[in-house]
Formats: sequence, structure tokens, C-alpha cells
Amino acid sequence: MGLSLEEIFEEFADLDREDQSKYLLELGDGLPDFPSALRTDSNRVYGCQSQVWLSADVAGSGETARLRILADSDSNIVRGLIAILQSAYDGLTAAEILTFDIQAVFRQLNLQQHISPQRRNGLRGMVERIQSIAGRHAVIASALAAENVSQSAPLPICPAPRFDALHVRRQFPVLNRPLGDGLFPVYLDSGASAQKPACVIAKEREVEEQYYANAHRGTYQFGVRIDEEFESARQLIADFIGAQSAHEIVFTAGTTVGLNMIASGWAAPRLQPGDEILTTVMEHHANFVPWQQVAIRTGAQLKLMPLTPDGRLDATAFDTAFTERTKVVAVTAMSNMLGTINPIREIARRCRRVGACLVVDGAQSVPHFPTSVAADDIDFLVFSGHKTYGPTGVGVLYGRRSRLEEMEPVIFGGHMISEVTIDRSVWSSPPAKFEAGTMPIVQVIGLGAAIRWLQQIGLAAVHQHEEELTRQLYAGLREIPDLQIFGPAPEHRGGIISFRMAGIHPEDLAAILDVHGVFTRHGHHCTMPLHNYLNISGSTRVSFGAYNTSEDVQAFLRALHKARQQLLP
Ligand code: PLP
Repeated sequence: MGLSLEEIFEEFADLDREDQSKYLLELGDGLPDFPSALRTDSNRVYGCQSQVWLSADVAGSGETARLRILADSDSNIVRGLIAILQSAYDGLTAAEILTFDIQAVFRQLNLQQHISPQRRNGLRGMVERIQSIAGRHAVIASALAAENVSQSAPLPICPAPRFDALHVRRQFPVLNRPLGDGLFPVYLDSGASAQKPACVIAKEREVEEQYYANAHRGTYQFGVRIDEEFESARQLIADFIGAQSAHEIVFTAGTTVGLNMIASGWAAPRLQPGDEILTTVMEHHANFVPWQQVAIRTGAQLKLMPLTPDGRLDATAFDTAFTERTKVVAVTAMSNMLGTINPIREIARRCRRVGACLVVDGAQSVPHFPTSVAADDIDFLVFSGHKTYGPTGVGVLYGRRSRLEEMEPVIFGGHMISEVTIDRSVWSSPPAKFEAGTMPIVQVIGLGAAIRWLQQIGLAAVHQHEEELTRQLYAGLREIPDLQIFGPAPEHRGGIISFRMAGIHPEDLAAILDVHGVFTRHGHHCTMPLHNYLNISGSTRVSFGAYNTSEDVQAFLRALHKARQQLLP
């Protein structure tokens, strides 16, 4: 049994600064053994220079179960910090951990003066991991209590969280303000851009009001704090998409910019006449036009993987689509028009066989279902902050380390160089090599808050919820005569459905839905090749976010029926 928090406070109070650091090391020496079976990737906490693993044991069950924090590190200072966290949290219930003011402990110990900014990041990472474990326990415990399920079995360490759509919706200020006519907005255009939860808005405001400065520039207090926040967002995002390291995360202005950087910086310098770029007709223009242009510039050929009649990639044609000449495969993980979810892992397997580089457009997938670039063996993945419940003007380009090293920067300037002389420049290592000039600092930190929020509500649960809404909408649309749904059955799609009604122009339909407070998108959705392939000029699209509810689906279907009555002769 380690020391109590009071004992640590007392010891600390009697020591000068140097002895306090020594004491921290001693606390680390006394840390109990950490089971080697728990030294797994999923228990790693990132953000520190050293390696850290963290897990928890549970004694008892239900809401009174007590958690014991288990953790270890290869750094003795970090082990000292772990000992403090254990003393602070040990024996508390999940609910107590969530309300425990750990910052007060850090303040009392004046920890800031003993640890470097990197270590502060690591400490914050450990606290967030503990809170996330406690959050999951609290959710499952209250679910079990509510359902009166037997409490005798111990709770699993990482149970799937229960999803409460109304609770989620309440966190979005814009969805809780009535429109002029008293209706609340039924927002069904998250595929274009998602709304932001209050915590993201508050985080952006906090930065602006409390410690805004440029990033990677000043060593004064604001500069240090901004760097910590900025780099911890990078680490959080790396963890969120299963990247090996935060160095593989490049901040961009969005998906479009990221894809152009890959096309111009990685593909253009290496493609030659006779090489093939394999893509699909369902791509958004952002993942189509850059490849078309690279093909024109280099003499490579742009090839399309065929689709099945219901709008999925035709896997039976993969054998002929992938050849020794395939150098790049650029594919969306989820179509922004058909809603189709593509088999990325299988495509990655094919890429490895022929030595092609896999570029995945994650704009519609990353915000809606869990992604692991490591498990899916993806070379490049891009997504946008504004579709991930975060700010506009920020996006993420993940690149496998070796690919980022091969890739040329396409924007030159400050921060991305290690040396500049009159005749030449030497680039910094990734990700700095691709982050020339001032980054969208507040937006990056806001995106970090959005990802943290998504992790807290549970992305797998969001996915399940959106799948259910999609099934309900699909069933409702199928009952409407002369309505054509594009794309596959619900089990092969995410939360997007596009359709057309015979005799009704999508723009007219959108206008009437708007009158009923129902916001949808109409047009070609930046997928002109797909609309040409389907032989239509436009469609109406419904796309869900975590905050949509079954009531939204019903409101949409009611408004659709009214529009139909109004628009059809
Ligand atoms: N790719 C897909 C699949 C999209 O849906 C979108 C936007 O709708 C983009 C790329 C472009 O994203 P952004 O406009 O954020 O660059």
C-alpha cells in the first residue's frame, strides 16, 4: 500500500525544491509492480517523452465499485507522478474519480515547477486516461442500475458506453435554439459540416481569452501553454486514429488541402507514364480532381474500380483492377453521396501485394466510426475538423512515417526548415516539414477538444446509433412511391442517404423542407462523375450526426410527405 495523499503533502511541504524532485524519484522507486500482461499498446498513454502504461483494477461491482489505478513508466520521475495519482485516486468509485479535483492536488504540490512541458502533457494524458476509464465505469454502472441487471458479476474494464442521443443533443447550443417560427432545427447535413458541442466552443474561447499566442515560437508563459495544448491535440488525434506516433500527424486546412499535398508532394514526383492511379467514380472531387491532374501532369493513367449495381465497389473485379503498374490507390472510406462504406482493409491487402500506396479519404468515416490506420495498414489518411464536430479551417493528414519522409513539402516558409542559406534550404523532420507558416492554432486545439468529446461519448456507440437512424430512414423512404434511393442497403452504408423523387426537383424539395425546419443538402454534392454515372443531375441528401434522433427522422419524413403533396400535381 502506497502513501496517502496527506502523507505526500506533508513530506513535500518540508522540502526545498531540489529535495522535492529527489522525493518524486523516491516515490517512483516505491511504485508497486505493474503486471507485464498489461504492458499492451492499448494501455499506452501518449504525450510524454517516456513510455507510460495505465490500466485499472475494479473491486466490487456497480456504482459502489472501487477502482485501483495501475500504471508504470520507464522514467522514474513519471513513476513518481504515477505514485501521486495512485494516492489521489485509489479506492475511489468511478463517480468520485470524475468529480475529484486533481488540479488542486497538483497546485498544492506545486508540480509545475518540477516537470517539463512534455511531462505535463504526459501527466494530463494519464489523468485523461483515468477519467476516461472512470467515465466508462460510471456509464455502465448507472445503466446496470437503471435496468436492474444482476450486480454480482464484476464490471468489465472497458464496457461499451450506452448512448443517450438526447443527452448528446443537449450539448449543441445551435440545435437547442428555436428558429423564428418556434420550431427547433432538424439538422440533417452533417456530411457537409457538423455542429459543434459547447465544450468545443468553450475551448476555443478559453484559448482566445486566456493564453492565446503563436505556436512553436514564444517561450513565455502563453507560448509554453499554447505549445502544450497544440501538441497534446496532435497526440490525442494520433491515438484516436491508431497512429504509431504523433509525428505522423500533420495539421492542414482540411481534407481537400491534405489530398492535394499528397498528390503534389508524394505522387507527382514519382509517377511516370505507364503507372496507374486507381480510384473510384464515387469519390468527392477533393479525392478525384487532384489525381486526375497528377495523371495529366505525369502521363500516368487514372483507372476506376468498377461498382456493383447497388453502389458498392465490385470486389470480384479487384484481381484485374490492381496490377503491377498500380502505384497509388485513392479511395474514400465512406462515400459522401451513396453512403457506401468501402472495404479499406481488403483494399490495403491488395495494395501491399502490388506495392501501391494507399490514400484514404476519411472525411466521412473518421467522425462516424472507429478508424485504425495501423490495423487497416493505411499509408495516408485525411479528414476535416469541421466534419468531426470541430472548427473549420483545420484538417488532419496522417502519413505513415516512411511515406512522410518520402513526401516533398508543397508550401514553403517559416517553421518547416532546419536551415536556410542564400542557395538552399534543409527541411525539418515531419510533421514540421509540412506545417509552414502560422497554423490554425485555436482550431487545432478546438479539434483536440472535439476528438476528446467524441472519445468520451464513444465513437463505436455513435456509429451504432447512426446505423439505427439510417435503418429507420431507409425503411421510411422505401414506403414512398416513385422515390429512388441511391447506394446499398443499410448494412453496407454509414449515416448518409441520397435519393430523388420522380417529378420533384431536389432544389424545390430542399426549399419546402427548410420551411418545416428540416435542413438537408441538394445538388451534386461535389461528386459530378458519380452523378453522371447515375445519369442524374442532382439528388437530395440526408446525413446524420451523433446529435440526431429518431424524432428527427420522423420530422423529416413528415415534412417530405407534405412537400410531396405540395409539389406533385
Ligand atoms: N471528401 C469527402 C468524402 C467529403 O465529403 C468532403 C466534403 O464534403 C471532402 C472530401 C472535402 O472536405 P473539405 O471541404 O473539408 O476539404
